[in-house]
Amino acid sequence: MRKVGLYIHIPFCVKKCGYCDFYSVVGDDMLMDAYTSAVISALGEYKDRFVADTVYFGGGTPSVLGGKRISLILNAAKEFITPDAEITVEVNPGDNLNEFFAICSHSGVNRVSIGLQSANDSELKRLTRRHSSGDVSEAVRLARLHGIDNISLDLMLATEGQTEGTITQSIDFCADLNVNHISAYMLKIEENTPFYDKKASINIPDEDATSEMYLFACDRLESRGYTQYEISNFARSGYQSRHNLKYWNSEEYVGIGPSAHSYFDQKRFFYERDIHSFIKGTQPIFDSMGGDFEEYAMLRLRLCDGVSKVECERLFADGKERFGSMLSAAKKYEQAGLCHADDERIAFNKNGFLLSNMIISDLIY
Ligand code: SF4
Repeated sequence: MRKVGLYIHIPFCVKKCGYCDFYSVVGDDMLMDAYTSAVISALGEYKDRFVADTVYFGGGTPSVLGGKRISLILNAAKEFITPDAEITVEVNPGDNLNEFFAICSHSGVNRVSIGLQSANDSELKRLTRRHSSGDVSEAVRLARLHGIDNISLDLMLATEGQTEGTITQSIDFCADLNVNHISAYMLKIEENTPFYDKKASINIPDEDATSEMYLFACDRLESRGYTQYEISNFARSGYQSRHNLKYWNSEEYVGIGPSAHSYFDQKRFFYERDIHSFIKGTQPIFDSMGGDFEEYAMLRLRLCDGVSKVECERLFADGKERFGSMLSAAKKYEQAGLCHADDERIAFNKNGFLLSNMIISDLIY
């Protein structure tokens, strides 16, 4: 049977962080129980249509849903999940995680992603996070205590008041905790977030300073043993996120829950951002057909491995020609020091990633 990545959105948070535009609500036990049942019945509609070799509980905040409900979902999904699956849960270090990790580990969870964002407590406050850096050390300790060693920490770059000194502090904090994976995202102030409403009073770094911080962070991560494999993701050897790689490799994934997206049967579709409509059983909305060359190249170019000629030829009837025309367009960017481009492969370096949105459209259209 076909192997896909299974994403389960947990749309609950204790409170909204100022910068966040992910879909979440404040839930009570009744709503979370109803949501858990709705996830299980939505999954049931895929019976015998796929197996998942990666499962990712994202959010929102899966740790707010609690270990027992995660375990109910995993138990119901048992027949979908391969024995060697990577099963990740995102957690907020401000939650009580001892029992949560104990139950999750027992139910098959083998990877956790912890929202650190910064090891500097003043930065955490400015980001309106509800935990301290000490809570993160404790979360890592508890995950390991319960047998979950594959740990990823999230960092945020280009935040208010951040300096090279505090970036170093945060990266060294992660490396000293000996985690295997670090994601480092640049802060973007999105519409419909509390930060957007008070944008004028938030002093975030300008574009040039943001670029410098990104390049600085890439170097520091590299020097602490984390190899970049995607624009914002760094890992020790063998610990890249198998689930997220499916997105960038244009492989199939099924998303369950409000705002969750899927790419399945060549189609892209998503659930609307409304927990009540999801609980009522509303079906996902068709977005577009997927899997064309443009989409493939755009996603692959997020990876340090980039696009290879061999794979283009394997996946697309006109792959040889498409690679050839990308290569011609890429030559000037190679001369500018932004990418590697030869007869076999086109791939951005970290300077290129900073301009990738602009360059990609020139390469593929
Ligand atoms: S950043 Fe995470 S914890 Fe904060 S509101 Fe968004 S989903 Fe919730």
